[in-house]
Amino acid sequence: MNRSIPARERAGYRQALTQLIARLSGTATALEEEAALRGAAPGGTDAPAHEADRAVRESEEELARTLLGNEAHLLAEASAALERLSAGTFGVCEACGKAIAKARLHALPYARTCTKCASATN
Ligand SMILES: [Zn+2]
Repeated sequence: MNRSIPARERAGYRQALTQLIARLSGTATALEEEAALRGAAPGGTDAPAHEADRAVRESEEELARTLLGNEAHLLAEASAALERLSAGTFGVCEACGKAIAKARLHALPYARTCTKCASATN
């Protein structure tokens, strides 16, 4: 069964994915820079770190790490979706092999599975 997506729509998904990758790359870079800045030694002061401040900073770093993980994951998914576009397997559920609903692809152009399979695994 070849439910290939019309070229015009493929171009739309490609554009959406490319933009997503560009946005995620920018965000990831900013977060990495921030993490690097935070990690830098706060030279010049011998005062012991205030526990509360430290706790806040650590939770912020934790959050940044989590965001970075999500961004990296999304970035990988978007890149994989672009590869599927090139390979002609884009829009096909990896679990059941059926076409993924257009509405789902519009919302999540990097979706690997149809709504049914996605909810079955969650
Ligand atoms: Zn499916």
